[in-house]
Amino acid sequence: MRFSKELSRISKLDRYVRPDKVQGAIKLDSNENFALDRGFIAAVAKDAAKRVDLREYPIDELEELYAKLAEYAGVSEKYVGVGSGSDQIIELLLTTLAVNGARATVFVPTFSYFINRCELHGILVDRVPLDGDFELDAAMFALRAKKADLVYLCSPNNPTGGQIPRKIAAGIIDELDDKLILVDEAYADFAGYSLAKLATKRENVIVLRTLSKAFGLAGARVGYMVTNEKLASVFNSTIQTPYPVSTLSLAIASSVLERSVHVAKTVEAVKSERERVAKRLARIAGIRVFRSDANFLLIEAGRKYRTIADTLEKRGIVVKLLGNVAGHPGCMRVTIGTRRTNSKFVECVEEVVA
Ligand code: PMP
Repeated sequence: MRFSKELSRISKLDRYVRPDKVQGAIKLDSNENFALDRGFIAAVAKDAAKRVDLREYPIDELEELYAKLAEYAGVSEKYVGVGSGSDQIIELLLTTLAVNGARATVFVPTFSYFINRCELHGILVDRVPLDGDFELDAAMFALRAKKADLVYLCSPNNPTGGQIPRKIAAGIIDELDDKLILVDEAYADFAGYSLAKLATKRENVIVLRTLSKAFGLAGARVGYMVTNEKLASVFNSTIQTPYPVSTLSLAIASSVLERSVHVAKTVEAVKSERERVAKRLARIAGIRVFRSDANFLLIEAGRKYRTIADTLEKRGIVVKLLGNVAGHPGCMRVTIGTRRTNSKFVECVEEVVA
């Protein structure tokens, strides 16, 4: 039976491991925005719940969200698509625009979900390694990507944190004008630039963004994309399911976008905390911190990894333990949270290594 052969192939693929939920822990493992007050999001959600009528399918709320997202991204609504998290948008694009047997080029390390979904759908993944500082050799990347159908650029990159310089990213896009290029900007709100406007002018570029990070709505599952008019229209009318996001999530998302000035303040706080934490960590012997343009830091702890990991666990601080990343031993990815939680994390590392 064909399906059992396929099931057996799929059962051997990398599986998604949901992060453990440790009660009362300081959660620095999934790059959510805890600098945004829980009460603020709760009040918005309560207000949205009062406004919507869940007996109806979400129609007006979707239109309202397109408008709010377009305004935030600085483009017209006709360039915007919406999904249940950017995860779902990635999934849909892979299953419709890249056929089985297609080839994708990515640099590594990068967002493992993307690679896993390619493998699930029989898309061959060519992995171009970043260098020892996790920087990209753009010429080599473009050369390899010429053999691909699909190119994935995570900008800023997860788990390393760095954003490819704008000129280099634009250069790669110029060279690969016959490939479908997905630019994953899940963390761009914390970075220096976005290619959203550029994507509206190209036939082959899709910028993926989300409200899960800077906007503090990981639980609402709202992602969006910005691309050219034709692709956005086909995505919204044919590729996307009719009602991918609940009325409640749509209404909450629109309300939080209306308060984007407040969100931007927390983003600035996270960015300044990121620099403060990076500086303090860089002073610790044996610890290496990589440059980040996102709301997290990748730290190479080498031989101190196990002791730091154990101590963090005892103190109820949860980070993403990655171990060896592309030859860098003992890596962990740490979300930048509030000043208090960031300090707790740094103090713990300082104490262990002293
Ligand atoms: N892209 C990147 C690079 C991410 O790190 C994440 C979150 N883990 C996503 C996309 C997916 O985000 P969401 O589905 O919550 O929009």
